[in-house]
Amino acid sequence: MQPTSIGSNRLSDGSPSVSAITGHCLCGAVTITVAGEHDARVGACHCRMCQRWSGGLFLCFKADASAVTVTGEVTHYRSSSFAERAFCPRCGSHLWFNDIENGGEPRSYELMPGLFDAARSWPLRSEIYVDRALASVRLLGDHRRKSRTEYEAENPFIEGNME
Ligand SMILES: [Zn+2]
Ligand SMILES: [Zn+2]
Repeated sequence: MQPTSIGSNRLSDGSPSVSAITGHCLCGAVTITVAGEHDARVGACHCRMCQRWSGGLFLCFKADASAVTVTGEVTHYRSSSFAERAFCPRCGSHLWFNDIENGGEPRSYELMPGLFDAARSWPLRSEIYVDRALASVRLLGDHRRKSRTEYEAENPFIEGNME
């Protein structure tokens, strides 16, 4: 399964934005504000776990945990030994994916771009597990792409058990 960073991008090597943005889930019970550094680009993951969780294609953008404020009740699902996924318990909207750093607080969030109106114009940054993509999902463009083999070679802690 994928770790928190889709690709090896750090916040500092992309096009970080510090403008404050706010998003919310479908029912409005959960509001997320990002007031600080975040990457105003979207990453995509086609791994089997993300396909099941998202229904087909997982999209996210990265924000420093110190910049993120969440209001409303959130349910967390521990999807692997190193990561969890969060969603609204009322409407089911997916909210974020993040690494669990040694059982402590996450250092960053991978937030769902669809929650934020501001993210509607953001470009695609990178795509991983491209060789596992659903036949119906092919993303155009010259963004960075990595296969499962390439990605797991760079992230050896991934168990690679999501057939
Ligand atoms: Zn909701
Ligand atoms: Zn994934």
